[in-house]
Amino acid sequence: GLPALPARPLAVRRPSRRIQVGSVAVGGDAPVSVQSMTTTRTSDVGATLQQIAELTASGCQIVRVACPTQDDADALATIARKSQIPVIADIHFQPKYVFAAIDAGCAAVRVNPGNIKQFDDKVKEIAKAAGDAGTPIRIGVNAGSLDARLLRKYGKATPEALVESALWEASLFEEHGFRDIKISVKHNDPVVMVNAYRLLAARSDYPLHLGVTEAGPAFQGTIKSAVAFGALLSEGIGDTIRVSLSAPPAEEVKVGLQILEALNLKQRRLEIVSCPSCGRAQVDVYKLADQVSAGLDGLEVPLRVAVMGCVVNGPGEAREADLGVASGNGKGQIFVKGEVIKTVPESKIVETLIEEAMKIAEQMEET
Ligand code: SF4
Repeated sequence: GLPALPARPLAVRRPSRRIQVGSVAVGGDAPVSVQSMTTTRTSDVGATLQQIAELTASGCQIVRVACPTQDDADALATIARKSQIPVIADIHFQPKYVFAAIDAGCAAVRVNPGNIKQFDDKVKEIAKAAGDAGTPIRIGVNAGSLDARLLRKYGKATPEALVESALWEASLFEEHGFRDIKISVKHNDPVVMVNAYRLLAARSDYPLHLGVTEAGPAFQGTIKSAVAFGALLSEGIGDTIRVSLSAPPAEEVKVGLQILEALNLKQRRLEIVSCPSCGRAQVDVYKLADQVSAGLDGLEVPLRVAVMGCVVNGPGEAREADLGVASGNGKGQIFVKGEVIKTVPESKIVETLIEEAMKIAEQMEET
């Protein structure tokens, strides 16, 4: 069968209470899940469901949709019913949409404490409605919309300010016996964000939704998120993650999944072990690695494929992998499970690797 998880994550998980976001458990010993958010108008049910289907296909486990208008609220029931993954309604200002989202069967609702005052006495009713329906609430604190009182107190969105805001809002729900909560304390600075989550993790047992907010375009956002999530998850902190990129949401999911795989929190799928190339290289390693990645894209089995530029480290790495090539003298030695199975001319390396990868993948899937 599939090789057992080599997963020895870096840390013991922080104990947290477990909540249920539709079919996906968050917190406790549930695997860390990956989520994203749609960019369509939620009121455009067809486009939104289409994007949710794409996100589902990319490995997204929970999806959030914005709900700024009545038309969006009206669309929630159909979206929640037809989505393949749990749908969370994201609501900033209007308590009536929180009730609408609960009635619509959304798997959870996200509210923002910067706007909690607008909820005033509605907190009790929200706690009651959410409690009756079994709908959890995410308290989403964001540096950009921190409560004015806390901004005055702390001068800016410090980790302490973010955490005080989150725990204060949680307490508003707790007063009414509602504890079906997960929390996020997002900031665009990974260092502030990491410190905020550490503080929050020490002060409560709620499951935590990690996010670096407004992380930026794909490259910068990927680095910021990987660094921040890596720091926290390697300390056992974090129960569900959302990478925020100024890029299509399926990209966020790809990055999120890779972060979890890199940390051994998720079984690794295709992994290309390729050398950086150097003055010894006897083939174009970049091109070879790109072509092999492209040829094997979408393969779901945990396959390690080594693409090495020369015979110095080549054979060693190629032997450690399920499959690999060590190039030299216009030829490639193809290794499968540590054995050289053939030597092919350079022009045949890519197709041979892909062919062999498919054979191994089939065997893995059969067993
Ligand atoms: Fe250089 Fe060879 Fe190492 Fe690649 S495998 S980095 S070409 S020494």
